[in-house]
Amino acid sequence: MKSYYQMQLDLCNYLKENNLKPSLLLHTCCALCFSSAFMQCKDYFNITVFFYNPNIYPSNEYEKRKQETLRLIDIFQKEYNVTINFIEQIEDFKTYDAKKVHQNKCLDCIHNRLLVSYNYADKHHFDYITTTLTVGRLKNSIMINQLGEMLEKNHQTKYFYSNFKKNNGIGLSLEMKEKYHIYAQNYCGCEPYYQKNEN
Ligand code: SF4
Repeated sequence: MKSYYQMQLDLCNYLKENNLKPSLLLHTCCALCFSSAFMQCKDYFNITVFFYNPNIYPSNEYEKRKQETLRLIDIFQKEYNVTINFIEQIEDFKTYDAKKVHQNKCLDCIHNRLLVSYNYADKHHFDYITTTLTVGRLKNSIMINQLGEMLEKNHQTKYFYSNFKKNNGIGLSLEMKEKYHIYAQNYCGCEPYYQKNEN
């Protein structure tokens, strides 16, 4: 079976060879992960950033990550002469908490963010959807792609299988961090990890 990174390369090559540039709803968790994912997608897709992260605690941290993503979008638009739309979806995560489907908190968290992203993508007729989450050093890209595959079965939008960690994807985000002085948080997002960092 092909790796998810190989699937990413194959689709990008196909799009390039056929001179296609479909729309991509890029679920984005933070500016740092966005920087690497954007660099890997910008030549192949028309990108809309979908900021849906009700997991981020506390609210000032949420706002900080959102503002930093917006700042980077502005830089990239000017630097690469592209239009990057930004959509913020606000929803109380507790509404999803009530209908957990996995035994694992992180699986539920990522599942929820992908599900809401898929619903938006379908409603607005996007060609593809994916997430910047696979850049994360501690994020399991196989699990994320499997969730994408599972959700694809009940949606019209195609899942862009990808592993943005590969081919020095993390190194690329660190380069961007230096270059653009990107704010980098030291915890993923939810309250227990925030508390741990504070102590
Ligand atoms: S650590 Fe918390 S915020 Fe990060 S994926 Fe897991 S549940 Fe979500």
